[in-house]
Amino acid sequence: MKRTLMNEKIEKIYSTNCIFDKQCSPVYVNRTYESGITHLSTQCQKCGSTFGQPISRKSIDKTAPVKKFDEELYNKFSEEYFKPLFELSEKQRKLNEIRKSLKIEYYEKVFNIKYVDFDTTYNFYLSSPAWQEKRRNILERDNHTCLFCGTNTATQVHHLSYDNLGNETEFELISVCHPCHQTIHDIENNERIYDKLQKKSI
Ligand SMILES: [Zn+2]
Ligand SMILES: [Zn+2]
Ligand SMILES: [Zn+2]
Repeated sequence: MKRTLMNEKIEKIYSTNCIFDKQCSPVYVNRTYESGITHLSTQCQKCGSTFGQPISRKSIDKTAPVKKFDEELYNKFSEEYFKPLFELSEKQRKLNEIRKSLKIEYYEKVFNIKYVDFDTTYNFYLSSPAWQEKRRNILERDNHTCLFCGTNTATQVHHLSYDNLGNETEFELISVCHPCHQTIHDIENNERIYDKLQKKSI
């Protein structure tokens, strides 16, 4: 049988990504997306996988055959290929259940309150004598100087992480001045937004 004119780079992408026989035979296909746009792409004829980006028509040999994207074969492929992911998400749910129940237990024991939501618990904690003491210790550790600018007198303590609320380790807390504290929260907000955007673009 005549070998299709597929470039090596694409074949490499398939052989490294395919979790099946590792002997994918990709061909050029026209794939029409839900939006109605058609792109030149590639698809393995054996397992139905499609890896790599859509490609420019100019970059391929004019005589190379282009088939129609096989939607049915692709659906079969993705069912198999993403199965481990779905199985993991089931387990992830289970892990979250455990985390949640431990958290509820923890708040009941440490704060003596029902865990309703983060804000309620957090505000309750900030007004507790336990936090006041911890806060004093951290300010003392940092010589009442803002760790962020290094010059202003620190008047507040910032949580670098809320993972161990009520039982924070020393490196989860820093002394800060008021302006730097606001800057830090702005930075953290930006990071969250950036993270979300990053995840969306994948
Ligand atoms: Zn394949
Ligand atoms: Zn500062
Ligand atoms: Zn803060």
